[in-house]
Amino acid sequence: MDGPHPIRLAMLGRQGAGKGTQCVRLSHHFAIPHISTGDMLRAAVRANTPFGQKASEFMERGELVSDEVITGVVSERLGENDTRVRGFILDGFPRTVAQAGALQEILAPGGLLAVVDLDVPLEVVKARLFSRRVCAVCGANYSVEVFPRVEGICDVCGGEIVQRPDDTEEAISRRLELYEEMTRPLTEYYRRLGLLEVVDGIGSLDEVMERILAALRGRGIEGQVFGGQDS
Ligand code: AMP
Repeated sequence: MDGPHPIRLAMLGRQGAGKGTQCVRLSHHFAIPHISTGDMLRAAVRANTPFGQKASEFMERGELVSDEVITGVVSERLGENDTRVRGFILDGFPRTVAQAGALQEILAPGGLLAVVDLDVPLEVVKARLFSRRVCAVCGANYSVEVFPRVEGICDVCGGEIVQRPDDTEEAISRRLELYEEMTRPLTEYYRRLGLLEVVDGIGSLDEVMERILAALRGRGIEGQVFGGQDS
């Protein structure tokens, strides 16, 4: 790409597919904000705002918060200067066809440049989710595959490593079920729009990242147009 066009990306994939980790890397690579609706909601829960209290009821059961509410949150974030100028990578949004439609309206007359679907089989994500631990402060992920240098302490920020309240067996099953029901139709939605790139999410973090970058390069989306450093 030549010139500072906003790079507008979204990432699909089952819970536990590694979206968050790859989105952080992509956000560094392209120097664009990483917008994770799950992280935004968890921040509201930690801040104990009335909105956070309401959202946590849904989140702990593994249910989705309402389309109107989450779309309002995202719309506000996408109206900020950094996302308008640089672009963004969306993680965890859209999650329903209604949200995808709302996103198109928010971004009009432009739109997303590409949607990456990180493909990881159900059995693999289940094993990852059951073993997942996260930093309570910065949200960095750990598991039986990726563990911290010091037990219980986050490598990135020194925060405490905990299990997410929605990583219980019941909530995990519900979230994966909802993914198939509500989010899976988005792959067809974005395929029809010619935006979908399905990427195999099995492999090392670097291998998966390279596959994503190759898919984006194939669409002419590459480089650090704002002079950011590759990670
Ligand atoms: P995540 O970290 O993306 O798995 O999100 C954690 C939880 O936040 C989800 O299980 C939902 O309860 C809620 N959530 C996050 N993003 C959305 C969204 N786009 N629509 C509805 N609920 C969401």
